[in-house]
Amino acid sequence: MSKKRTAPPPQPLPGLVDAHAHTWDRQIEDEREAVLERAWATGLVAIVEVGVDVDTSLKCRAFAQADPRIHAVAGLHPHEASRLPEQRDALAAAVAGGGFVAVGEIGLDFYRNLSPPEAQVAAFEWQLGLAREHDLPVVIHSRDADEECFAILERWAGRVGRYLGPDREIGMMHCYAGDVGLAQRYLDIGFLISVPGTVTYPSNQRGQQVARTVPLARMLTETDCPYLTPVPWRGRRNEPAYVAATARFIASLRGCEADEVARETAANAARLFDFTLASGDGA
Ligand SMILES: [Zn+2]
Repeated sequence: MSKKRTAPPPQPLPGLVDAHAHTWDRQIEDEREAVLERAWATGLVAIVEVGVDVDTSLKCRAFAQADPRIHAVAGLHPHEASRLPEQRDALAAAVAGGGFVAVGEIGLDFYRNLSPPEAQVAAFEWQLGLAREHDLPVVIHSRDADEECFAILERWAGRVGRYLGPDREIGMMHCYAGDVGLAQRYLDIGFLISVPGTVTYPSNQRGQQVARTVPLARMLTETDCPYLTPVPWRGRRNEPAYVAATARFIASLRGCEADEVARETAANAARLFDFTLASGDGA
């Protein structure tokens, strides 16, 4: 039953950033060191590690403190939103304590509705305020909630403006799954669009259209590992090294060099999250 049999390791692509990963996940935890080694060997220069509650956010911060190539994001996922009353103080304290480059992942998930919609909206809006208070960008999860999520972010963006500076976006749409029209509306209110491994799935015409259309200067790419594994490893557990295949696929869609996708998406991540990219040739 080995799906490992045929899939080759990713072809290296220097300078890449995985803008959204969860290596604290049980599916990766036990071999996390080997997973990271493969990522660096594939040419990644940074990984953004994202929490879904206080405990996992603190794990991300510990990862970041142990390796300057790792950056941590703290937040309460929409699935966990009903835990806001017990999580709020600890999350606020964690973010106030520093060591995070963004608040996330936050947003709405009306597909699974693991927390009631009202609880999701409450947790989402409270955390948008938390991000603004600490001058951090936001990492947004939106599933089956396109218009509701956009309405909240449009209103918020109108209120807070470009609070991180005129040349810096205020957030990213993680694993963006909407259409080109909605992507443009997000670009207009100061968000980056992040393209995940699902863009490599043959049936994902909408995602491919987005990857072709959004300017590279406003695009990120990510794994969301351990989920959403790109072709040719689809069906296996995802890991940061595989973002190289996604970047190459984006380049093939756009008819440009993979190096250009790597360079631009990495620069966008560094700008959004305000980190410095390690120099390419292995220091
Ligand atoms: Zn995620």
